[in-house]
Amino acid sequence: MKRLVILGAGTAGTMVANKLRRRLDAREWAITVVDQDGVHLYQPGLLLLPFGVYEPGELVRARRPLLPDGVDFVLAEIDRVDADAHQVHLADGRELDYDYLVVATGTTPRPDETPGMAEAEWRKSIFDFYTLDGAMALRDALAAWPGGRLVVHVTEMPIKCPVAPLEFTFLADAFFEERKLRDQVDITYVTPLEGAFTKPVASRHLGGMLAERHITIEGDFVIDRVDPDRKTLVSMDEREVPFDLLVTVPLNMGADFVARSGLGDELNYVPVDKATLLSKAYDNIFALGDASDIPASKAGSVAHFSVDLFTENFLAHIAGRPMTHAFDGHANCFVESGHGKGLLIDFNYDTEPLPGKYPVPVVGPFTLLEESRVNHLGKLGFRWAYWHLLLKGRPMPVPTLMSMAGKHAES
Ligand SMILES: Cc1cc2nc3c(=O)[nH]c(=O)nc-3n(C[C@H](O)[C@H](O)[C@H](O)COP(=O)(O)OP(=O)(O)OC[C@H]3O[C@@H](n4cnc5c(N)ncnc54)[C@H](O)[C@@H]3O)c2cc1C
Repeated sequence: MKRLVILGAGTAGTMVANKLRRRLDAREWAITVVDQDGVHLYQPGLLLLPFGVYEPGELVRARRPLLPDGVDFVLAEIDRVDADAHQVHLADGRELDYDYLVVATGTTPRPDETPGMAEAEWRKSIFDFYTLDGAMALRDALAAWPGGRLVVHVTEMPIKCPVAPLEFTFLADAFFEERKLRDQVDITYVTPLEGAFTKPVASRHLGGMLAERHITIEGDFVIDRVDPDRKTLVSMDEREVPFDLLVTVPLNMGADFVARSGLGDELNYVPVDKATLLSKAYDNIFALGDASDIPASKAGSVAHFSVDLFTENFLAHIAGRPMTHAFDGHANCFVESGHGKGLLIDFNYDTEPLPGKYPVPVVGPFTLLEESRVNHLGKLGFRWAYWHLLLKGRPMPVPTLMSMAGKHAES
């Protein structure tokens, strides 16, 4: 028997297990999936939970039933990989041998990495929404907050779902407006980027939306520390942003075992070829989803499109044939903008988000870089598609590689 071990059963790992179990002969291939957590979390729902759109129970499901029959699910923490010996060491002392390894252990918020962040004010006046506990605590804080200075903050790029903090800002603006509290809330968006987003055209659109909503942008803000006593963010160049309520996206990092195994870069992401997702150091290790260092968004959509191509490449690779499918960095994300509307962005390594219609030119129904109700409904509908189509590795009605059809350039 040949052995494929998949580390992490989140978005990418679950899709890979479902797709490859169907394609690899069960008499020849054993597939083992390892995750430290028996529950799968629908992370895009964490954005909406603080505003009362979802209850926590709507965002979690037992992990095992999401994996196919015919794979072994091991519930354990990964301690390290010995890539030369083709072995995974688990924290409980067990060892797993592999012929091929997929690292899909994602990225995690690390508030402990910024001085002052996870200290006396953590979950009192400083919150995150990238974890279920954080989103629930923030929901309670928002419901009771009388107003004041709300600061939404991004610590450092890359973060998963880079539009999520902007979405949170738009939703907070609408939330306070609907509660007739908006004139008592001063909102500032603090980012290490120059503008609202990483790519110029989208940055212009999204920055304009912040300005229309009277939200101040504090750009190029490289954080040095949070001063919890003075409730102030302090940058490396000694700029200060005071807050009454801070909603931060902490530094995102890949899993610590990646560093312990000598497989990662300085943020614990696995260096891979950006077209094939094959490790630059080992010919039998791939990294998928947020765990890799590819210069694409860390997003479920990227995991989805890249896993589609990876599957074909993997089958070629194990048969000794060249991998002919090249991933283009395709990402698409709905961007909630408040009051039941949203935008959609669609882009890849080379093409930035542009205006237009998606997925069918002229018809849409989704509008790119423009607010519409149908985009918001698309975001809500995606939760069903996630559990029933995406994770199961079933076909979705969108192209795997980015298409220019329906898009128009903007000067
Ligand atoms: C607030 C928020 C909103 C988002 N919105 C969107 C959106 O609208 N659209 C979109 O496309 N994406 C969105 N995302 C991003 C998306 O959820 C992630 O990019 C996607 O889940 C990445 O999949 P992954 O498999 O790489 O990692 P994950 O799904 O995070 O899975 C990683 C798995 O590895 C396991 N693991 C990690 N370390 C270990 C260890 N040492 N031992 C054992 N197991 C381990 C974890 O338990 C986890 O199950 C959002 C994310 C957040 C936080």
